Amino acid sequence: MDIAENIRKIQNEIYEAAEMAGRKASDITLVAATKTNGADRILEAIRAGITDCGENRVQELLEKKRQGAYDGARLHFIGHLQRNKVKQIVGEVSLIQSVDSRELVSLIGARAKTLGIIQDVLIEVNIGGEAAKSGVKPEELEEILDFCAAEPSIRVLGLMTIPPKDAEKCENRYFFGQMHKLFVDTKAKKYDNISMEILSMGMSADYREAILSGSNMIRLGSAIFGPRPVV
Ligand SMILES: *Cc1c(COP(=O)(O)O)cnc(C)c1O
Repeated sequence: MDIAENIRKIQNEIYEAAEMAGRKASDITLVAATKTNGADRILEAIRAGITDCGENRVQELLEKKRQGAYDGARLHFIGHLQRNKVKQIVGEVSLIQSVDSRELVSLIGARAKTLGIIQDVLIEVNIGGEAAKSGVKPEELEEILDFCAAEPSIRVLGLMTIPPKDAEKCENRYFFGQMHKLFVDTKAKKYDNISMEILSMGMSADYREAILSGSNMIRLGSAIFGPRPVV
């Protein structure tokens, strides 16, 4: 598995999908989902052109950050965020992609205020309506955005989603389309503090479909680093 070669291939795919969608490849941010990969492999990806890294676990992120694993790239938190980890993550990453409750909004806002910073976040939406999945329901989005609008230490930059894992590709297209519609509708509403700029959707298996459906941020792990060890 040659990481640099994988990234080149992905960049070509992004270019082609963007072209097909009538958009610019430069408007699409490729986030490397770095979970389970060590600093050496992450740095190799950054040398090959990766500008953004996303990590899933707070502990793993902080350890690898100390080792300099993400030096030269922006860092995102993309995993499920536990309330008791909020203090450790706020201010450590440029974007928390997985905010899905008012409680998290309050905790992140309070911590950011203490640190004297504004924390950028995305709201995670459970577009497939799966029972066990994190993310707000589409019909709850407005309520959480109103709540965020009143939290000056938080800035919402957009939405993130992980469609149902077992969905067929055509189903994914449907969910991606639903997500894009939600993104566009929300953008049109113009809340305080909230700028709908980022639509984060698409992983290794479906990022082309996601781009065709309007995604401008894709999160890829195995397409860059190869299959992850099964844990
Ligand atoms: C692991 C992960 C990805 C990347 O998954 P791949 O299928 O390996 O591309 C994207 N988003 C989130 C939230 C992840 O946890």
